[in-house]
Amino acid sequence: MTRTPHLFVVSGPSGVGKGTLVAELRQRVPSLGLTVSATTRTPRAGEKEGVSYYFLSEEEFERRVEAGEFLEWANVHGNRYGTLLSEVDRFFGEGRSVVLEIDVQGGLNIRRVRPDTVLVFIEPPSAEELERRLRGRGTEDEQTVRLRLSNAASELEAAADYDVRIVNDDLVRAVGELADLIDSYETKERSL
Ligand code: 5GP
Repeated sequence: MTRTPHLFVVSGPSGVGKGTLVAELRQRVPSLGLTVSATTRTPRAGEKEGVSYYFLSEEEFERRVEAGEFLEWANVHGNRYGTLLSEVDRFFGEGRSVVLEIDVQGGLNIRRVRPDTVLVFIEPPSAEELERRLRGRGTEDEQTVRLRLSNAASELEAAADYDVRIVNDDLVRAVGELADLIDSYETKERSL
């Protein structure tokens, strides 16, 4: 069966478990292209250049914005993050679908330039559970945790414009739902 590659955006509040979910998804659907974003944020312990992110200075990030190298970029929690066009095109050139793990502003911006993008929002089972997971991660200081929690509320609102919502209450089930969604888009008959 011929498969049509699609662009999928996975968004959700910090601490909802997007990273784990997308890592599991990659195991289950190895053909998926996962891009590496650029950011001006400083690396956390264990993060690797070119694997976790491309860690850029403000100047270098700005230079690339000016040069038109980004499919989208946004200010998230006080730092800049962006998807490089070269990252997406690399996989599309190989006929592979691409999953972007980016914030809601980025997702909505992409849809303006690529209307066939599928926007998926990952929801926490509850606000309390989100706070528990975010604190339990222990990678952010108190001020950062508070900023991320207050941003979560506006992200949930913006998600009204997303195509699909998946509650991450059970990792295996949520990954299955995402894998089925990707499969259904890739195998759907073209409407043209
Ligand atoms: P973190 O600092 O925890 O790695 O990521 C913070 C937020 O930035 C997450 O919500 C993540 O989805 C978002 N993010 C990561 N990469 C990108 C990107 O390329 N573009 C946009 N718009 N957001 C991103």
